[in-house]
Amino acid sequence: MQILDGVAVSAHIKSQLKQEVEQLKANGGKTPHLAAVLVGNNPASEAYVGSKVRTCQELGFDSTLLRFDTDITEAQLLEEVQKLNKDKSIDGILVQLPLPDHISPDVVINNIDPSKDVDGFHPITQGKMLLGQKSFLPATPYGILLMLEHYNIDVTGKHCVVIGRSNIVGTPMTILLSRNANPGNATVTLCHSKTKNLKEITLTADVIVAAIGRPKYVTADMVKEGAIIIDVGINRIADATRKSGTRLVGDVDYEDVAPKSSYITPVPGGVGLMTICGLMKNTLEAAKQH
Ligand code: NAD
Repeated sequence: MQILDGVAVSAHIKSQLKQEVEQLKANGGKTPHLAAVLVGNNPASEAYVGSKVRTCQELGFDSTLLRFDTDITEAQLLEEVQKLNKDKSIDGILVQLPLPDHISPDVVINNIDPSKDVDGFHPITQGKMLLGQKSFLPATPYGILLMLEHYNIDVTGKHCVVIGRSNIVGTPMTILLSRNANPGNATVTLCHSKTKNLKEITLTADVIVAAIGRPKYVTADMVKEGAIIIDVGINRIADATRKSGTRLVGDVDYEDVAPKSSYITPVPGGVGLMTICGLMKNTLEAAKQH
């Protein structure tokens, strides 16, 4: 069993990006500039946005963090997004999800300029991806592809089972794994909450991508010997042995599944860090285009 080490791989990708940005600046190019929009003070969202802003600083990107109270209206938030769309200094816009219930994430995402859609959530971005046209890739599936690439894991002809059909992880992951590209060319099955006999399906998987949002849901009895396990889940569970009283676990029961797998991503230290790499690569690309 080999751990797919998000700490090491993301450090490697970030050092490449840092060099690229230095070169871009030296050649008179634009410093990539990411604007992050945070509504409310959800602790998980604070942590995600904080690490994205810190990564910008680490790589020599500019960043702007816009914070709004939870009582901001949808119309007001759309106005803020429009300002960022028009601001020529901004290359990438990310609106941290989830948003408060009175604001539709679809409406907000639909109003981001697709040329600044570095999270890869806009319908135009996803439509282009679906058709195999050049586009930003959704940050988490992109990060997973970067991870597979780094370890030279060839999924051609393999049976990949993606569990979870969200627009930001599961569904785009199935498209990217099945397209005629590298990594890609896999035979993909998408499973979700209404799937019958999930275990029967996962037992035939060469690769499992778990994006469910249920702690330790995938157990060893669901996994074929030698399978590759990509755990997207980030779940906080109680842990009395920790000072904080909680810890993060994935959607895969790591201790149970790891001995059976050929490769596995840990949580934390796996896909989460790769997501930030995907986002930063998209932002650099956006800056080059602008
Ligand atoms: P979501 O809540 O939008 O979707 C969850 C999906 O899981 C749904 O499509 C549902 O059909 C499926 N599902 C639920 N119960 C199931 C079951 N019993 N059997 C099979 N399928 C089931 O989730 P999301 O936004 O894709 O996030 C999934 C997980 O990934 C969450 O833990 C989230 O925090 C995490 N996440 C991590 C990153 C990262 O960078 N690592 C990025 C995004 C999301």
